[in-house]
Amino acid sequence: MLHLQNFLSPPINPMNLEQKDILIVDDTPMNLRYLTRILTEQGFQVRKALNGQMALTACQTTLPDLILLDIMMPEMDGYEVCQHLKADEKTCKIPVIFLSALDDVLDKVKAFNAGGVDYITKPFQFEEVIIRVQTHLKLRDAEQKISQMNEELEQRVHERTQQLEQANAELQREIRERQQLQTQLLHIALHDPLTNLPNRALFMERLAAAFQEAKDHAGCDFAVLFLDCDRFKVVNDSLGHLVGDELLIAIARRLESMLTSQDILARLGGDEFAILLHSIQESHQAAQVAEKILQQLSQPFQLSRYEVFINASIGIAIGATDSVKPEYLLRDADTAMYRAKAQGKGRYHIFDPSMHQQALQSLQLENNLRRAIEREEFIVYYQPIVSLKTGKISGFESLVRWQHPTQGMISPAHFIPVAEEIGLIALIDLWVLKTTCMQLSRWQTHLQWSEPLTGSVNLSSRLFSEANLLETIDTILSQTNINPQTLKLEITESVMMENQKLTKYIIEELKNKKIKLCIDDFGTGYSSLSYLENFPADCLKIDQSFIKHLDQNSPKRKLVPGIINIAQTIGMEVIAEGVEKAQHLESLRTLNCDFGQGYYFAKPLDSQSFFTLLETTPTW
Ligand code: C2E
Ligand code: MG
Ligand code: MG
Repeated sequence: MLHLQNFLSPPINPMNLEQKDILIVDDTPMNLRYLTRILTEQGFQVRKALNGQMALTACQTTLPDLILLDIMMPEMDGYEVCQHLKADEKTCKIPVIFLSALDDVLDKVKAFNAGGVDYITKPFQFEEVIIRVQTHLKLRDAEQKISQMNEELEQRVHERTQQLEQANAELQREIRERQQLQTQLLHIALHDPLTNLPNRALFMERLAAAFQEAKDHAGCDFAVLFLDCDRFKVVNDSLGHLVGDELLIAIARRLESMLTSQDILARLGGDEFAILLHSIQESHQAAQVAEKILQQLSQPFQLSRYEVFINASIGIAIGATDSVKPEYLLRDADTAMYRAKAQGKGRYHIFDPSMHQQALQSLQLENNLRRAIEREEFIVYYQPIVSLKTGKISGFESLVRWQHPTQGMISPAHFIPVAEEIGLIALIDLWVLKTTCMQLSRWQTHLQWSEPLTGSVNLSSRLFSEANLLETIDTILSQTNINPQTLKLEITESVMMENQKLTKYIIEELKNKKIKLCIDDFGTGYSSLSYLENFPADCLKIDQSFIKHLDQNSPKRKLVPGIINIAQTIGMEVIAEGVEKAQHLESLRTLNCDFGQGYYFAKPLDSQSFFTLLETTPTW
């Protein structure tokens, strides 16, 4: 025994076999003892079982690392025990070495079939037992390692897959977010933020597409409608921008509801909308749509706090295949819209090519006007205003003219509307105001009249609504050193109506400064006598169309006494414009009118001629 132990000692233990737990199952106690001894001597932990049932129970308690299993046992033989072990997931991996005294082929096959890994025949060879046990323990260890490595590998693959899946999901999310952002950016770039309608850029894109389609396929005709709200500024100025915005949204929704899904409605900016109508063969089809729109827009808009009425002017351009460029079409519709406005607003107009020529001319005028301001090509003419009580000149009205280098003198009626439209009027008005105050100061000093000469200046709505108007007037007054009471500012009724709140405020401020305010062209606009009480100006200028008829039996003539009467009752002075005949003067005197202005006294004159006239102190 001793020498055997010595002989076997060296190869054993490199893998810590003493830790290994071996279960020996044999119904022969002698075999059990023998095997236990030799294995224990090799450092193994050994448990014993005398029958199959004990062996199975022992396995349930603690899993052995290897089982030496006798085949021939009463009740349950080794094959059956092995089958039980292999059937149980917990024990199926335990290597089983059969112990058998029978060394025949059939049994070995049966042993392997039952799940055994090896067999040892009795009588036992000491070395054989040890070698086989060691070999299978090593195999088992290797298997376990491989299985562990496999598990680890699987785990790593799983983790890596998860990481990859996560990274992929992250990437997908980023791509989605970027696409969303892109879509949002594109939407913002192509839509009006207030109404969410397509903007000019998108409209032009769609127009170009329609244009191309019409070129490619005969019969795919279309029309462009250019819509501009009338008096929208009044809403903005009187009810505020928030209400203005609310109204624009409501207009957008109402327009949308009238169009088909193929039509394109866009907001071009401000109160301007454009519509692209598809499948339009004849201009009257587009006109029908325009009529319907005008009719619908004329219904009141019920906003959150106000009920608002609005009108619009529409220009129509038909998309003919011979049009040169899509943008020309929008321009033509725009031109036609201006024509609709000029014809009295609240209507539509269909573009015809002759209008383009006129539009070009007005563009030319616009350019020239800008240059005229730079080059100071303007001149002020002065028209006397006569006191009907004394018959003498009491003041004058300053009337601007444009001395065009090639076209000669251009009347304000010709260029003032354009100057108003393009925003140059305020500059012109300021220049006239300054020039007038300078002249007035010079003439007042020279004449030394007991009642000093007065000067009247026309103010456009642009200048009137300019924030620093009052300061500008102050500066001019102090620079020219004239008495504010001798300065009169003329505004038309429409200016007052457009800026009611502002007008009230400015009238008060002007009153504080003792500057006079005149309502010009009375009778041509709203002609509301009740407004005169709301806006207590100092003088009322009755429009020349009333005075012209004073010598005839016309309905307008009958209104003049009433106007004079009411104005004077409120405390206003009355000036009659357009006094052309002696009969006019006579009638006005009878009606107790305060002042007169007209060709009968003098036409507007240049400063030199006017001063000469002043010096002669004419009396009428
Ligand atoms: P307004 O302010 O009503 O000026 C009176 C217009 O009537 C002047 O025309 C004057 O020449 C004309 N007029 C005067 N007496 C008679 C007459 O007996 N018969 C006739 N048929 N006409 C007479 P004008 O100078 O052509 O000015 C036209 C309008 O242009 C002015 O009407 C005024 O609204 C505007 N305007 C003139 N100068 C300025 C200015 O400096 N600034 C602004 N914003 N508008 C101006
Ligand atoms: Mg005037
Ligand atoms: Mg007038």
